[in-house]
Amino acid sequence: MTEIKGLAAHAAGAELLSFRYKVSELAPHEVEVKISHCGVCYSDVHLIDNDWGISKYPFIPGHEIVGTITGVGSAVLDRKHGERVGIGWQADSCGICEWCRQGDEQLCAKSQPTCVGRNGGYADAIRVNSRFAVPVPDILESENVAPLLCGGVTVYSPLRNYLARPSSRVGVIGIGGLGHLGLQFARAFGCEVTAFSTSIDKEAEALELGAHHFVNTRDMSAVKKLAGSFDLILSTISADQDFQTFIGALRPKGTLALLGASPSPIQIAGSSLIGADKAIAGSSTGSPRDLTEMLDIAARHKIKAITESFPMKKANEAIARLKKNQVRYRAVLAN
Ligand code: NAP
Ligand code: ZN
Repeated sequence: MTEIKGLAAHAAGAELLSFRYKVSELAPHEVEVKISHCGVCYSDVHLIDNDWGISKYPFIPGHEIVGTITGVGSAVLDRKHGERVGIGWQADSCGICEWCRQGDEQLCAKSQPTCVGRNGGYADAIRVNSRFAVPVPDILESENVAPLLCGGVTVYSPLRNYLARPSSRVGVIGIGGLGHLGLQFARAFGCEVTAFSTSIDKEAEALELGAHHFVNTRDMSAVKKLAGSFDLILSTISADQDFQTFIGALRPKGTLALLGASPSPIQIAGSSLIGADKAIAGSSTGSPRDLTEMLDIAARHKIKAITESFPMKKANEAIARLKKNQVRYRAVLAN
């Protein structure tokens, strides 16, 4: 392959346009992947709109990628031609720092996100370091597994890292791409699961996906009544919200894990954390180890994304629906 075709953002907030970039010889540690599917994560929207001030235009978004290996670099020992793989938020890391060596590559200072300073998955192909192309279990269908490569591992990691277990009470705020997977993974960990949502029309599906309880967060008095209830709350929304009330909803030693970032700085009374050893924490995506574990659990517990399918060329339509909170629950682009 000498050229990769896709859809790129050329300016903040603009519609994606056709775009091609040239590629030369495959680097020794890279694989080339022919893309079949790519999920549309809200982080792509943040990047397209330059909400985080890190976007470099033009670039092709997309970091929930499933495809087939069509090229293997000369030094690659772990992947083979024809293998179906998934690629998430990360495309490369240094491989030798303390974080890479302990399997937390997502924390590497030289981490290369798949579509920041590189071109991502709204395209016909992509090249990444082979360590970040993880095999996808045969039982999982490409369209339903694509959203697990970022959304799935992002909700899986805090459940894993904060030791969720059958005695745990877990809340998930925002039942979108991440949140609907969060309900399923929390259920698979055996937890008692509560969905916090602004969309009451999501209640029946949230319960089907594994929630035991559904709380309408348009009425925060309902959340206030749950004071002292949760061991772990995953916040997947990127709007400002009443964090103080969610801290109040934690049990002693409970953690509010932020997966989505609100635009305004967060104000929390320190005393509301100190008295009962509570914590508020950030949680990034996961490493290749986490991706592999997460996919294995998805295969065994029949966890999959509920998707809306769009042809790749209709990426702008998918993004418009996502921005209006109309997608149920993850848009996936197909080649
Ligand atoms: P999404 O599909 O749009 O889901 C977000 C959900 O938040 C919506 O479905 C909605 O749920 C709720 N919501 C939206 N607007 C809201 C508002 N104004 N007030 C209250 N709730 C609102 O987005 P996503 O793809 O899941 O991504 C969510 C966030 O996680 C994004 O900011 C993304 O950048 C971030 N993210 C972080 C990581 C990481 O590594 N930490 C990885 C991936 C994504 P209800 O309708 O149920 O209220
Ligand atoms: Zn993402």
